[in-house]
Amino acid sequence: MNVGVLALQGAFVEHEAMLRRLGVNVVQVRTPAEFATVERLIIPGGESTVIGQLLATSGLLEPICERGRAGMPIWGTCAGMILLAREITEGRKAGQAQLGLMDITARRNAFGRQIDSFETDLAVPVLGPEPFHAVFIRAPQIDRVGPAAEVLATLPDGRIVAAREGHLLATAFHPELTGDDRFHRLFLTL
Ligand code: GLN
Repeated sequence: MNVGVLALQGAFVEHEAMLRRLGVNVVQVRTPAEFATVERLIIPGGESTVIGQLLATSGLLEPICERGRAGMPIWGTCAGMILLAREITEGRKAGQAQLGLMDITARRNAFGRQIDSFETDLAVPVLGPEPFHAVFIRAPQIDRVGPAAEVLATLPDGRIVAAREGHLLATAFHPELTGDDRFHRLFLTL
């Protein structure tokens, strides 16, 4: 099985390293031809407006939408989560390219400018009793999940920061920046 990591911009190298540690065959995806060789795709954190623009110019937007709708497992972390979301409540740039595959609403830069990065231990029941050390970098949050989506993690104040909808996974934080590979392993089971 080839797992693709979208490698247009952002934190793709860290995802690649973690997948390799799990013994997975990883392909950096920058072109439709590379995308055609993978069975799963991770969309990394970075800058969602930039990644969106590059998705459009690289010709990847259409094929990712198509295969995502057809059931391909896709995981978006942070900016990747914003790109997966059907709706963006705040900070959507006019004409911003979206995959819009997952029935969630994402709020960009939900944690403000001063405290725009933080780390916290998060309860994620689907991963087991051990908390997950979550790194938030100018992170979005999930304002709404659709009826088919399942909330996987919330902050103590109730904000939703991880969700799953069948074959689609969204995390507002960066599991690839920790030594904990449980989210990567969960993704490989979708
Ligand atoms: N703030 C970024 C955006 O809106 C996301 C940050 C990240 O991916 N770490 O795209």
